[in-house]
Amino acid sequence: SEILRITDLKASVDEKEILKGLDLVVEKGKVHVIMGPNGAGKSTLAGVVMGNPRYQVTQGKIDFEGEEITEMPVNERAVKGIFLSFQAPQEIPGITVENFLRTAKAQVTGEAVKAIAFKKELYAKMKELDMDKAYASRYLNQGFSGGEKKKNEILQMSVLNPKLAILDETDSGLDVDAVRVVSEGVNRFKNSENSVLVITHHNKMLEYLQPDVVHIMVDGRIVATGDISLAHEIEEFGFDRYKQAEKGES
Ligand code: ADP
Ligand code: MG
Ligand code: MG
Repeated sequence: SEILRITDLKASVDEKEILKGLDLVVEKGKVHVIMGPNGAGKSTLAGVVMGNPRYQVTQGKIDFEGEEITEMPVNERAVKGIFLSFQAPQEIPGITVENFLRTAKAQVTGEAVKAIAFKKELYAKMKELDMDKAYASRYLNQGFSGGEKKKNEILQMSVLNPKLAILDETDSGLDVDAVRVVSEGVNRFKNSENSVLVITHHNKMLEYLQPDVVHIMVDGRIVATGDISLAHEIEEFGFDRYKQAEKGES
């Protein structure tokens, strides 16, 4: 069955249209990947699904588990079980990783999260990610390496346990360690009841993830959907064929 359905979606940022009539269905129990050239609107799509108010939806709709969420605020979507991995934009002195995650979990579950039980859960999850316990007491992002920031995203995902996890792997700066952390984190997280949408072009990551469904996004639309062979085709021939097809259409 499907968890997310996006129909004829148009969205803008600062008056500029980025999503131009996008259709996408994400299935339950599946790992989907979106690939696309820089500037295609992949991060915009992730932000719009999460409900980031920076983007204005001007047409179309988003359904999550059969319920329309197009106008729903971001915190309500998080409660429904949608997750977008995020980096705190800067170092936040005074807020530890543990406090940050505990607060996030309380917001998403709508229940108080007891400190001692949470610490236990957190340490268990950190152990799976091969993270030192001391990490929980560190201030958010202070002196984190690229790999540690990625681990923190995967830790967020596993603590919040969403129904739909969206991971936007911004094209630059994914070192070998980070690729492995994200891939293993996804593989451990995924099950028959949740869905993962990964935005990446990273061949190594695709190899680790073995996604069920691959989508190609060009110029604000999904222009092709297939299996892993679509990713191999892109690896070999690039996006040119799809870019030209788009131009020919308009
Ligand atoms: P991707 O993640 O696929 O690289 P993005 O969603 O980040 O693409 O960006 C899509 C397009 O939106 C790009 O062409 C980018 O330059 C443009 N864009 C992003 N923010 C703004 C903005 N504030 N004003 C105008 N254009 C923007
Ligand atoms: Mg980009
Ligand atoms: Mg992007």
